[in-house]
Amino acid sequence: MEEKQQGDKRLGIPQNTIEILNRYRFVFQKKYGQNFLIDTHVLDKIVRAAEITKEDLVIEIGPGIGTLTQYLCESAREVIAIEIDKNLIPILEDTLSDYKNVTVINEDVLKVDLKRLAEEKNGGRPVKIAANLPYYITTPIIMGLFEAHVPASNITVMVQKEVAERMQAVPGSKDYGALSLAVQYYAQAYIAANVPANCFMPRPNVGSAVIRLTPHRERPVSVRNEKLLFRLIRASFNQRRKTLVNGLSNSPEIRLPKEMISEAVRRIGLEETVRGETLTLEQFARLADVVEEMELPH
Ligand code: SAM
Repeated sequence: MEEKQQGDKRLGIPQNTIEILNRYRFVFQKKYGQNFLIDTHVLDKIVRAAEITKEDLVIEIGPGIGTLTQYLCESAREVIAIEIDKNLIPILEDTLSDYKNVTVINEDVLKVDLKRLAEEKNGGRPVKIAANLPYYITTPIIMGLFEAHVPASNITVMVQKEVAERMQAVPGSKDYGALSLAVQYYAQAYIAANVPANCFMPRPNVGSAVIRLTPHRERPVSVRNEKLLFRLIRASFNQRRKTLVNGLSNSPEIRLPKEMISEAVRRIGLEETVRGETLTLEQFARLADVVEEMELPH
């Protein structure tokens, strides 16, 4: 009997989603990036890519009406879902009423101390993060998780396809940039699926992809000054197609005269004409170590 009730309420099947939206007269809020999943294969794929087991505590960002949340509740030990839109809270109480292993928090995820939450609720063991992300804040959410050192064994999220490709890009490719380097400094990126717009309601006007980010146990490069490394990366990609030396000397982020930047580039064994978009993370780290010795104080 219980099985049947759960089956009846299962979201991801378009008719059930429509029925819930109509019953609550839900109005989509564009400003919150609300595109709900209506494809059971994609939902299964996210859960599989995240390798969720009954041992796991999963933090979900933006549960919407609870579609992915239901799948996570079935596979995980416990789910904590953080949703900004207060109009979704009564809906979630309904759609998740069969699950005893879920807690919904009505908050802006960018204001939640996820590190503390993860540590408190999982006895210091790493959690898993899963989401069909609101695309307008993809980068702050992901970089926020890394920079705050939220203990996560993986972060498996739906993002805009183009953003997934940038996260996974290698040096010299057209998608390679500051986001590729920032993400790859912290994690290994793997695109688990490409997802067309018709898997969402309403349809977004971009393609999507599921990406799994597995944080490195140890940083892939060592660098004396992490902040300087990221300043250098940002400055190098601010002016694409310029040489690295020109890009860095035009940037207010780097306080070194052009001759010294040329000298730093030569010291790490590169030509002065090299372009920023061809440098590996390791080369940026070496450059940061050399620039640190030369840079003028603030
Ligand atoms: N998980 C649902 C699904 O797959 O159908 C909904 C995904 S929808 C793309 C993104 C969700 O994130 C929406 O429910 C939206 O209200 C929520 N959201 C947007 N900004 C948020 C924020 N700052 N903090 C928490 N949730 C947010």
